[in-house]
Amino acid sequence: MNEKVQIEMGRYRELRNEVSELSDKLAKLHKEEMACKKGCSECCMHFQVLPVEYFSILEELKQNPPEQYQELNDEADDCNFLIGDLCQIYESRPFICRTHGLPLLFMSQEGDEWELSTCPLNFTDFEDFHSENTYSQDTYNSKLFLINQQFVKNYEAEKFGDFDMISINRLVMDLKK
Ligand code: SF4
Repeated sequence: MNEKVQIEMGRYRELRNEVSELSDKLAKLHKEEMACKKGCSECCMHFQVLPVEYFSILEELKQNPPEQYQELNDEADDCNFLIGDLCQIYESRPFICRTHGLPLLFMSQEGDEWELSTCPLNFTDFEDFHSENTYSQDTYNSKLFLINQQFVKNYEAEKFGDFDMISINRLVMDLKK
């Protein structure tokens, strides 16, 4: 991979650290209201991710391959890396998986109101949400979008548009190459 692509992957990892730190902070803040625990995989599903995220994860997994995974195709509803309710690529999991269970704040698709999404198992008796105790999904998604835009512009092995996504389940196939 060329130098420009490597720079964007470095930016992706910096942003991922930021997301992880904020997610940990919010999980600590809401520990009384959240039922999340090891072995709960209610939020896991077959996700699509942006190319910069996909190829950063692939690069890490080539260095440190998962011990187990499922052989599922791109049509499956489940994630290939969920085995016995445990994530097999936990350290490299995508942004979306790092925010599982948190109160997520985002603009509606129509762009006319803010929406808050929470896991139905969490926050059953809590409504005091504000800017300091929610995860601003749009803020981090837009930062990721801009990093990805530079990545796809400079990535030469495959051509992607700014809005193209890649199935996380494709990783299994690419790890065998
Ligand atoms: S990558 Fe891990 S956390 Fe994310 S959906 Fe798959 S198993 Fe769940």
